[in-house]
Amino acid sequence: MQKTIHTTGLDALYLASIDSCVKRITAVAGFPITAVAEKFIRDNDGTYDFHWFTSEKSAMETALGASVCGCRSLVLVKHVGMNLLADPLITSVTHTIGAGVVILAGDDPAAFGSQNEQDSRWYGKIAEIAVFDPSGPETAYECLIRAFEISEEASAPVIVRVTDRLEKSEGRVLRITPRAGGRGKLFDPSVWKLTMHGKHQLFHLRSQPILTREAEKGSLNRVSTKGSVGVISSGFPSAIVDELLSGDEQWNSVSHLALGVVSPFPYELAASFVRKHERILVTEESEPFIESHTRIFGNVYGKETGHLPYGLLNREHIGFALENLDRAHVTEYTSIQTIAERGPRPICSDCPYMPLYHILRRLDVMIAGDMGCSIRTAPEPLGAVDTGFSLGGAISTACGFTKNGIAVIGDFGLAHSGIIGLINAVDHGSDVLVIVLQNDVAAMTGGQAAPDIKEAVRALVPDLEVFDPDAGARNMGEAAFEELERMIKEKLDLKGVSVIYVKCKCVMY
Ligand code: SF4
Repeated sequence: MQKTIHTTGLDALYLASIDSCVKRITAVAGFPITAVAEKFIRDNDGTYDFHWFTSEKSAMETALGASVCGCRSLVLVKHVGMNLLADPLITSVTHTIGAGVVILAGDDPAAFGSQNEQDSRWYGKIAEIAVFDPSGPETAYECLIRAFEISEEASAPVIVRVTDRLEKSEGRVLRITPRAGGRGKLFDPSVWKLTMHGKHQLFHLRSQPILTREAEKGSLNRVSTKGSVGVISSGFPSAIVDELLSGDEQWNSVSHLALGVVSPFPYELAASFVRKHERILVTEESEPFIESHTRIFGNVYGKETGHLPYGLLNREHIGFALENLDRAHVTEYTSIQTIAERGPRPICSDCPYMPLYHILRRLDVMIAGDMGCSIRTAPEPLGAVDTGFSLGGAISTACGFTKNGIAVIGDFGLAHSGIIGLINAVDHGSDVLVIVLQNDVAAMTGGQAAPDIKEAVRALVPDLEVFDPDAGARNMGEAAFEELERMIKEKLDLKGVSVIYVKCKCVMY
């Protein structure tokens, strides 16, 4: 039975998961994936287990464990989380799985809530797996339904890329009744008869043709051929192109190839489309992924030729690019966004950690910050931390400083991967002071609970002190932080690893 409903991209992803009989959902919070995860928490009908994880690698490994036992699993992570789960992901492809595993990778064109603007489609190339890139609710639903099927046919995980605008988009979805296909599919241990190289050979002989067929002939790609100019797109930009071409007479005769499958790249489909046109514009977010695969076929324009900006695209960008397709190169997008121009995103003015950040600013040492609130203290006027490379990365970064340094890390970042840096710091006898901001939540991603691993840390680092400005006699506001400043200066003179936990209550949660 089929039923058409009007819904959002976010709800379409939820409904497709329900209709695919997903049994296990693992998630790590972060923009723009938190909204999807919260939908699954809110509307849990009891048919699946949902768990927040502090590490994407663990989230992926648990999903794989469920898969080998016959449970379809969904992994929710933001784009930077893909970097951490890449390890089990890439090996799972030749290891093979049981029931379907789909990763919803939340990309952030424009880096609105992220430390970079990376494009998850590239993980399809590295892992040799399918990547679907839906444009709105209808394709989000279709992509997720198909992703579970293909994952089981190819015995490998599938990535479905989502963005904030896709989640918020509205449209019609043709909903199917839940399918039984593939549910309960178990891992086949006979693959252990093969060498590791043999498993890779098996993948190329058995699985890759299935994925290539889906990319070249599957129903998730859409073509309309009209005039001498064509647009190739994927993801949410496909919806913008559809709107532009159907709403503006000037562009009525422009052809459109909207790719729902971007990995394996559908070379034959794209080459045939390019060769039918005099000029092609590629519209995509965030990087020139399709453009780099199609330039070889003919007159292809896009980000690399300057016709479109990197990152987020809008209707005006695409209209401008179409108007300028007679130019080989365009140089309009050369300005570089500054914080002054965009507007600062400071930490909360009443953040209880503010006195600590003022102390850090006064110190003449290098300070490694971490992802989360502390990274927002790097720009002036606070200028508290000096670096911020990755979630959980502060301790290892500080260990690389040439003089005694400080690592400032949140309790969530510590449980995410910072603890690994701490183990290495102790093992190497590094001289580093670690300040753990213990507010018991992942403040930047929606207030998810952060585990308290203080006793595990104390087992590693006996020199651990807890500073709680609100506790007992210390309950004297900013003055209490004078004591903290003394403590920090003392620890900086010591050899080896020291840890100070600073306990405060986040005013947001
Ligand atoms: S969210 Fe919480 S921890 Fe982060 S800056 Fe605001 S008050 Fe401070």
